[in-house]
Amino acid sequence: MKDAVTYVRVSSKEQFEQGFSPEAQRVLLYQFARTNDFTVVKEFEDVESAKAQGRKSFLAMIEYVKANDIKYILVEKTDRLHRNFQDYVLIEELTEQHNVTLFLVKENTSIGKESKSSEKLMYGMRTLLAKNFIDNLREESQKGVKMKLQHGEYAGRAPLGYINSKDPYNPKHNIITVDPLNKDLIVKMYEYYATGNYSIKTLIAKLAEDGLTQNIPTRSGKLHVSTVAKYLSNVFYIGQFVWDGVLHTNASHEAIVSIELWQQVQQILAQRNNHKVKKHNTKAFSYKHIFTCDVCAHTVTAEKKKNQYNYYHCSQYKKCGQPWVNENDLDKATHPLLNILKLGDTGMQYVTAALKSSLDEKREWSDKKFEALIKEQTTLKERMDKMYEDRLDGKINDNFYDNKFAQYTQRLQEIEQQVSKHNKADISYYEFGVKIIELAENAIKLAEMATPEEKNELLHYLLSNSTLKDKQPIFELTLPYKEIAKRAPAGTRSGWQGMQESNPP
Ligand SMILES: [Zn+2]
Repeated sequence: MKDAVTYVRVSSKEQFEQGFSPEAQRVLLYQFARTNDFTVVKEFEDVESAKAQGRKSFLAMIEYVKANDIKYILVEKTDRLHRNFQDYVLIEELTEQHNVTLFLVKENTSIGKESKSSEKLMYGMRTLLAKNFIDNLREESQKGVKMKLQHGEYAGRAPLGYINSKDPYNPKHNIITVDPLNKDLIVKMYEYYATGNYSIKTLIAKLAEDGLTQNIPTRSGKLHVSTVAKYLSNVFYIGQFVWDGVLHTNASHEAIVSIELWQQVQQILAQRNNHKVKKHNTKAFSYKHIFTCDVCAHTVTAEKKKNQYNYYHCSQYKKCGQPWVNENDLDKATHPLLNILKLGDTGMQYVTAALKSSLDEKREWSDKKFEALIKEQTTLKERMDKMYEDRLDGKINDNFYDNKFAQYTQRLQEIEQQVSKHNKADISYYEFGVKIIELAENAIKLAEMATPEEKNELLHYLLSNSTLKDKQPIFELTLPYKEIAKRAPAGTRSGWQGMQESNPP
């Protein structure tokens, strides 16, 4: 038997979704341990709350593994493991310097010093694909959203039962209000389902029978099983919402379902779910959900023909007349795009230098802010000393002193927090940037060796809002890959017709 530790992570968002409990992860890891002769000597678990990233146990695990010379870590999959680049570096240190092997059970791979380079590449890719990495990048551009969130306002499209509308007191301000046409539909949906007498299918039939489904604002005007399942577990209806994995309980919109009713429904959903066996890899299509139809904007769906060839077509192709295209042809159009991300040495140097200078700017800015904080801290402390003397001299009264004292103390605490944050802020953005470039460099290689699911993941990471017209993809790259593509050597660019230069530099 070999000694191993397990690591489990669950976020508050997932606790409200189905099939994501820490138990589910634990069961999987124990099964794996049993069949592979591991003894689990210690378990580590992090829960991400609305306030904290939840990496306390992660750090404890790192320490434990080092101190006890443990050689194996079992985790469900990559995005469970680390939440930022620092964590990634800590794991890398374990695998490279302490000969630890990391088992990513669901992904069917292990990472250790002796791993094949292709496996390490895949792992690197998954790390970059982990949602948090991308979120960190986006963070800067989301200040407007943050403001809304602080006020408990959901910044997205209102779910069924609500509408996005203008604030009557301030037309520039968007708010979410209850949709009088569909409120009853949602309320009855919960009430009926809570009785336990309905499956989602019969529930839909019952709602239609009651005449409640006439005002559904979707194209088809119908309810579907998968969407109803989502409505039934959406915390939005109890006056909360989840944004970027964080649960906001202070939502400003009105609740239309009581918490008791909502919880009853969750219990029934959970019972029903236990009876279902999870399907794995039923249909794997590399280009699933990558394109929309350029002509009519409907989704492009995938289909297997003659049980062998993957085809893609607009879901409304009968109306818009767009031809079907097979996967090989899509590969032929896409692989040159992935090739273009290969920068070559000069391009690489250019981007690395650009990254470095942007990092330096950031640092300079934060250094200035740091200085200002320290200065304010000193001033406040001096003022407090002076105030104390004034009180002793009877120049100010106790009441005034107490008020001011509380005020200054609070500000001092704020400053201290910010100062300590600054000290920790030495996140290796630069190294992270290098990882992004590495992924670009290897995109074509990854695409060629990946499974359809992995390729689909990769394409989702690299592309957004891409469309398909007359069998030809019109690609739109995500940041930062848009920037990287711009620096591609001219020779490779001209050979590639697909991308439209929508934003000239
Ligand atoms: Zn179409």
